[in-house]
Amino acid sequence: MKHKFVEFIPKQKEDGILYISLEYSTVVHKCACGCGLDVITPISPHDWKIIYNGETITLHPSIGNWSYKCRSHYWIKNNNVVWANDFSDEQIKATREADRHLKNKYFSEKQKVKTSKEIKEENFLSKLIRRIKGLF
Ligand SMILES: [Zn+2]
Repeated sequence: MKHKFVEFIPKQKEDGILYISLEYSTVVHKCACGCGLDVITPISPHDWKIIYNGETITLHPSIGNWSYKCRSHYWIKNNNVVWANDFSDEQIKATREADRHLKNKYFSEKQKVKTSKEIKEENFLSKLIRRIKGLF
């Protein structure tokens, strides 16, 4: 595979090209099996990561097109497609479950961060009020 850094993902995509839009934190490519479907991999802490070593791209984790007819499952490592075994329905279910669990964890941690920020703001406000009161 080859990669292309783009701002916008083009409508007409070529086989064997990874279109990477850092602007929109998304990588799109045509399914490596040749079925012609677009595979969209959002880049985020709870979706995919890209590793760019200056020459090639690695996507993590693997790409599992379970909802497609082809059900292809592969990794993209250093611009190469590395095929994985087809997952059984059980494994797909377990993977989805784990994914949902991770996402929940991520969002609840985000919530916690927000709460501690709010506490800081409250502390700041009460200090400010005390300081203002001290003026009189
Ligand atoms: Zn396919």
